[in-house]
Amino acid sequence: MCMCVFAVMPQKCCAPGCSANYDTASGYTSVFRFPADDVRRQQWINKIPRENLNVTKNTVICSRHFEQRFTITEDQFSVNGELVTVRRDRPKLTDDAYPSIFANVPSYLSTHVPQKRKEPADRQREIDGRCDQSFHEWLSSNEVATFEELVDNLEYKMSQYLHQWSWKVLTNCMWLYLVILTFVRLLCVALRFVEV
Ligand SMILES: [Zn+2]
Repeated sequence: MCMCVFAVMPQKCCAPGCSANYDTASGYTSVFRFPADDVRRQQWINKIPRENLNVTKNTVICSRHFEQRFTITEDQFSVNGELVTVRRDRPKLTDDAYPSIFANVPSYLSTHVPQKRKEPADRQREIDGRCDQSFHEWLSSNEVATFEELVDNLEYKMSQYLHQWSWKVLTNCMWLYLVILTFVRLLCVALRFVEV
């Protein structure tokens, strides 16, 4: 009987002195192939401080050599107008990414990458995302699971958010009402919560 076992070896990084994926005990480091575009591929080769670097379709460089802003670790989708963030299994690089960090060579061989200014639309999207997130956190912190829980927390919540309102709890129902005292008593709003 013949048994074939195929093992995929982790790909080794081509940067000088880099030990990524040489020792499997210290975990897997993501690697990236070189760009297919000639200009960008040459730009990467120029940035890597290694003489006579021979790049083939199997040559890879690991994520340790890229500024964080070049690495995309999560995807964002809009679902019913709500921004949903999903972590990627494998990071990918932005279209303008290039390697610039080389820890095991003299520091002058690493390139300082200037911070990219964010587009106003990106900034707004980030702010909207943060607002959505805080709103959802606030909503979930105020969630009540049962009618009893609602009744138990009522006094505290009312004093915090609706201190002008009055309330009345019956067996399985609760009334909230707002009365304005002017010349005549005026009932403005009344809400009835019924346990279902
Ligand atoms: Zn590396």
